[in-house]
Amino acid sequence: MVSIQNSTTFLKVTLTSQKMSQKTETSNIEQLTTLDQQLLWHPYTSMSEPSPQYLVEKAQGMNIYLADGRVLTDGTASWWSVIHGYNHPKITQAIQDQTALFSHVMFGGLTHKPAIKLGEKLVEISPAGLERVFFSDSGSVAVEVAMKMAIQYWHTQGKPQKQKFATPRSGYHGDTFAAMSVCDPVNGMHGMFSSTLTNQFFLAPPPQGLNSPIDEDYLISVRTLFEQHANSIAAFIIEPVVQNAGGMRFYNPLYLYEIKRICEAFDVLFIADEIATGFGRTGKMFACDHANITPDILCVGKALTGGNITLAATLTNDKVALGISQKGGVFMHGPTFMANPLACAAANASLELLGSYTLDKLISTLAQNLIDALSPCRALSSVYDVRCFGAIGVVELHEPVNLKTIQPLFVDEGVWIRPFGKLIYLMPPYIASQDDLNKLGNAIFKVIKKIRG
Ligand SMILES: *Cc1c(COP(=O)(O)O)cnc(C)c1O
Repeated sequence: MVSIQNSTTFLKVTLTSQKMSQKTETSNIEQLTTLDQQLLWHPYTSMSEPSPQYLVEKAQGMNIYLADGRVLTDGTASWWSVIHGYNHPKITQAIQDQTALFSHVMFGGLTHKPAIKLGEKLVEISPAGLERVFFSDSGSVAVEVAMKMAIQYWHTQGKPQKQKFATPRSGYHGDTFAAMSVCDPVNGMHGMFSSTLTNQFFLAPPPQGLNSPIDEDYLISVRTLFEQHANSIAAFIIEPVVQNAGGMRFYNPLYLYEIKRICEAFDVLFIADEIATGFGRTGKMFACDHANITPDILCVGKALTGGNITLAATLTNDKVALGISQKGGVFMHGPTFMANPLACAAANASLELLGSYTLDKLISTLAQNLIDALSPCRALSSVYDVRCFGAIGVVELHEPVNLKTIQPLFVDEGVWIRPFGKLIYLMPPYIASQDDLNKLGNAIFKVIKKIRG
């Protein structure tokens, strides 16, 4: 409960902050962050021991401007979504133009140009054969939708017993229940939700290394699982080439090609979760393109709107879409804010920008700059590995970091970097210059040295 006194404070703070022009006074910042800690959950945080939160006044390009006047160079693209940098004028304009017409209408029975245009564009840029688009609000929901599609497909095909999923460990697919059931069992906290989560089939993670030779035993393990259980498996789900939040692991794209073939042989659908890797992050429009495969179902989110408004999509082929629709079948999902016009307008503007880049050249330059910026970290004894792929740079330590200790050190260096576990990584906006990346790399080097010597 918020006490009356707190509410009064809040009113006062709001009123004063309205009068302010640029910088927020220190006392106001303290009041606001205290209120924040009393009222608001942040991702993966405690309410009794709240983490420090930094009050943001504005964001522009590569920079996040804190209310206390500090400016942070962003190395995270706000969880990998803000690919063109903050507040891009073309995207802002597109949202404003759409707002002037209408911000929202229900998608049941009504449709609109921003959604149609976006659907057309997604089909055009995604791997050939993905022809049908389902819009939803967030990545986790896009994964739920993909899983429901797979189950419904087999249901209409007379195989209702195919309800389970196979997936490698070290994956991350979101925080809702079905998505959580295919997350890494340890990171996904399966223990805590054990009686609610569906038991899925877990494989070892694909062996690490983009160029590591294919381990035939790994493929045999996939084949063996399907030989024993394909009659209960609706789909295999994986993050193509990069396992992201589950460990920032890169693997040889040939695994995707081979596993896709095994899936086909055993009547298991293939779901590619490209919520992190989609829209150029790995140097191709989609990470599946490194393996030249078309999944049966593809999930996108995060960077879809250039990180401006929440939106996700689940794409599928005719086999699944028309299969579900056989004998009067309908797909059983329909979010209130499905295909929100503002979000679709932002996505259209973002994809237009993306189309104006020479993507492979842009990302290969970024990749080289990331390697240059992070390589010095290899000299530090607490560093286990430095690896880069596309616009992803990872410094893996031997021991996990303490976020509460390390976060303020990064802020002191004028950068926004948010490590997890043993991983300090950069997934910057694509507009990051060599100087930006060097600043971020130097900060990582300095901070590791400070905490670990
Ligand atoms: C972030 C992420 C999700 C979940 O997306 P939300 O928008 O946070 O629900 C799912 N899969 C992958 C691969 C992700 O990186």
